Amino acid sequence: MSTDASESPATAEAPAPEPPAPPATLVPAIGDIEVPIHCFHCDGHYLVPARHVRTGNVLFCPHCKGSYVVNTSVYDAVHRVVREFHAALVHEFGTVTVDAAPAEAAERVAAVLPAVRDAVGAALAGIRPPGAPRKPAGIFG
Ligand SMILES: [Zn+2]
Repeated sequence: MSTDASESPATAEAPAPEPPAPPATLVPAIGDIEVPIHCFHCDGHYLVPARHVRTGNVLFCPHCKGSYVVNTSVYDAVHRVVREFHAALVHEFGTVTVDAAPAEAAERVAAVLPAVRDAVGAALAGIRPPGAPRKPAGIFG
């Protein structure tokens, strides 16, 4: 019995095929929802995806390059709001894909995103991020 040298070794295996990418769903991933950050350096506003709002993360203002350190209060406020809105969207639209979604559903989702920003802005309004100047206290403060 001679070994056939032309035979390819049995150990060589074709790489597993890549699983197809899941179709984009109508409801954005929770981390992709953009939230507004108010820059206390220049009083400007900018949007960052929620996934960047992590405790200890430093965000930089695109207007003045001022830094904004995310602390636990900021993280909690942002993610509480985003989770609520995201859960409501998922409840309503579930796993409807962008391709299969009726136009009015896409409009409904698009209409919710500004509401998320308003709610996040309101939640953050009461939080003083690290480094932000304090309002001068009154004489009895
Ligand atoms: Zn700024």
